[in-house]
Amino acid sequence: MKKNIYLDYAATTPVDKEVLKTMLPYFSDNFGNASSLHNFGEVAHVAVEKAREETANFFEADNQEVIFTSGATEANNLAIKGVVRSYHKKNNLKPHIITTSFEHHCVLNTVKSLEKDGLIEATFINPQKDGVIKVEDIEKAIKKNTILISVMYVNNEIGTLQPIAKIARLIKKIKKENYPLFHTDATQALSYFNCNVKKLGVDLLSMSAHKIYGPKGVGVLYVKKGTPIKKIQDGGKQENGLRSGTINSTGIVGLGKAISMLKNKDTVKDNQKIKELRNYFIQRVLKEIPKTKLNGSKIKRSPNNINFSFESVEGESLIMMLDAEGIATSTGSACSSGSLQPSHVLLSIGLKPEQAHGSLRITLGKQTTKKEIDITVKKLKKIIQKLREVAGLVLEEYYKINKK
Ligand code: PMP
Repeated sequence: MKKNIYLDYAATTPVDKEVLKTMLPYFSDNFGNASSLHNFGEVAHVAVEKAREETANFFEADNQEVIFTSGATEANNLAIKGVVRSYHKKNNLKPHIITTSFEHHCVLNTVKSLEKDGLIEATFINPQKDGVIKVEDIEKAIKKNTILISVMYVNNEIGTLQPIAKIARLIKKIKKENYPLFHTDATQALSYFNCNVKKLGVDLLSMSAHKIYGPKGVGVLYVKKGTPIKKIQDGGKQENGLRSGTINSTGIVGLGKAISMLKNKDTVKDNQKIKELRNYFIQRVLKEIPKTKLNGSKIKRSPNNINFSFESVEGESLIMMLDAEGIATSTGSACSSGSLQPSHVLLSIGLKPEQAHGSLRITLGKQTTKKEIDITVKKLKKIIQKLREVAGLVLEEYYKINKK
């Protein structure tokens, strides 16, 4: 069988073997409900609390500030809706939220639905052409009723790094009685960037285990002590009363192991290798494939992200043809694939819809090799040439028909 090449690590990562080994006993032998009072429950509870400590250590936070959720989608919903729910209107003014126009849909649509329901006012800040948010643009948008500012740490489609600590310093200067609060969706940042919450200066931070070689269906919302926030689903009193539902002990054990491995020497070495491979890939493609544009800043960028637009090429066809060659890539977020809408991220940095349609996201990971990159570049060149020939023929036919 032909060996597949996986270049979609921003969509999800394989569970690390060590992580899996740590999780296995918690599926069957240690299956207890972490909230139960008997010994079975105690065994699970101890494992969950160990994972909480590992997570808190990574963020340099306190254990009580770590709220386990079902992933980053839920963590982002809880952060935004929870802050709105706990806010008491003053002077009959609706609370105001600032976010960016290129957030993941789980932030963007949460803010849009609150706005549509008439519960908030919202401002969506566009990034600059290089895919980086300008701090002054946030500053200009702040109003006296701004209660929350939410800016992602690393964009999931174009990998651009946002000035989170700088925005936090700005907010700190104007903060009055807790507000505005500052939230960041750090889902794509954990493997590569400093996530010390005190250094970042955030009140709320979201992450997801399946992007860091942990299991799917588990994540974290970091909530700084004293942050005004209310639960958004009713039920039991788990997770400090902020997140009801039986604790996913197996997943949490996996998350704890995965997060604790991020500061290993091996991870640091892997990240350096990933960055070198990314630079090599970008360099080769820009040199060897004409009419190609790299989307997003070359410098302020995640070490594992590559995003190109190829003129006269349709992204979905490109991905399907690469897949037929055993190479897994993406046009953007896996959550929006299946929709024929051009990427909101690429439009937000000023691409025309046809340029956005001709885009390809390649994201590297621990297992990526130079050989895989070389094979991919070779196939990519051939496929793009073919697609451009077909596009040319279609255009020729079109002009012929229209001349008649
Ligand atoms: N935010 C970002 C930036 C993401 O990349 C993703 C996953 N694509 C999510 C949120 C959603 O994470 P989850 O799959 O854990 O719900």
